[in-house]
Amino acid sequence: MAEFRTPIGTRDILPPESARWELLLARFARIVEAAGYGLVISPMFEDVEVFQRVGESTDVVRKEMYQFTDKGGRELALRPEGTASIVRAFVQHRPPTPWKTWYAAPSFRYERAQAGRYRQHHQGGIEVLGTDDPDVDVEVIALAWEFFASVGLRLVTLKVNSLGDATCRPVYREALRAFLEARQDQLCDEHRTRWEENPLRVLDCKKPECVAATADAPHQLDFLCDACAPHFARVKDGLAALGIPYVVDARLVRGLDYYTRTTFEFASRALESAQNALGGGGRYDGLVEEMGGPPTPGIGFGIGLDRTLLACNDEGVMRIEDLSPRLDVFVVDFAGGDGARDITFRLRSAGLRADRAFGGRSPKSQLKSADRSGARLALIIGPDEVAAGQVAIKDLRAEPGTPQHVVARDALIDEIRRRLVSDASTVGPVSNLES
Ligand code: AMP
Repeated sequence: MAEFRTPIGTRDILPPESARWELLLARFARIVEAAGYGLVISPMFEDVEVFQRVGESTDVVRKEMYQFTDKGGRELALRPEGTASIVRAFVQHRPPTPWKTWYAAPSFRYERAQAGRYRQHHQGGIEVLGTDDPDVDVEVIALAWEFFASVGLRLVTLKVNSLGDATCRPVYREALRAFLEARQDQLCDEHRTRWEENPLRVLDCKKPECVAATADAPHQLDFLCDACAPHFARVKDGLAALGIPYVVDARLVRGLDYYTRTTFEFASRALESAQNALGGGGRYDGLVEEMGGPPTPGIGFGIGLDRTLLACNDEGVMRIEDLSPRLDVFVVDFAGGDGARDITFRLRSAGLRADRAFGGRSPKSQLKSADRSGARLALIIGPDEVAAGQVAIKDLRAEPGTPQHVVARDALIDEIRRRLVSDASTVGPVSNLES
């Protein structure tokens, strides 16, 4: 029979690697929740139009979407990014504003799969709806920055730009249109014919022809209106005040169509340049209206969690071997009675992290499992211990030959706690996720 494998561009994340994901998600949740953001869990698929509204002319929506017709004839698509669903949810439920939300979920894009580019990747993001205060832009950027810092990344760079609003963007667009019209035959194959559809996208094109042809293109920053210019100035002041280093990149237009005013992107200097984007986001002050809601400004970011972990690999941080062990105790039973069953249950009820061997395996093989489990202590229940109402405690990190310590069953929990306290890093349930 054919051997089943994960579809191209997807992968299984197994233990112990998955422990890094748990830690990453816990960090993200802790940071954004401490700033007043609430979790939104929305469907993995939506009416295809929800995504078409946000990016009709983008590759993500035009070419890469997992689109399908369900058995009821509905046109649906798997989410390619997170913002559209949050905006749809806002329009549907009309929560009080400002609505500060976060999510962590897979995104699906039919891309050419390669290292750091998957067909299912995972994004953690936040969105704030209902305020255009530039201090919110600073808050959003600062939270992403704090997240990268919290996992130990040092080689993260931040680019910011402003794309103007409904007043100044059309004026700029027209200037850019005129500029591109005069140079259309110098653009790449795709943009030679499509530049007019969304002239800003040409600035985002990485093909050398487009990069060269647009080197002197006009910048939105030179066209910002009386409302957008001070808004952007306040954002830059805020970043400087918080000590967050950034560069202004007038070519930063981002992939999706809906951005207005502040846009930003984080990249890693540790990663290869084609796949070095860690995340990005920006304002989308017209998107709620576009989706059928009342005029409502919004801003958010999406961070690629797969890429964040690749950057961690390259910077040598958040290593599996640095995570604290997941277990306190491993119970082995050579007596073959009820000991392992009953004691393991008691340990867990007392809040200790405990696992055990099953299937009456040999002492040698049970002790090997104890070693492999990463637990600090093994509890050994042999016939002598059963007869005496005792349990032997073996420190799995002690030098070979260190004598085991025998305690009465009644005193067991206290003795284990005493020993774990002497190694603070392993104390308490799921301590490694909350540190
Ligand atoms: P975007 O919505 O394209 O700005 O994506 C946000 C972030 O998600 C990017 O900065 C990447 O870190 C990550 N990302 C996007 N597409 C992929 C992909 N195909 N595979 C892995 N990560 C991705």
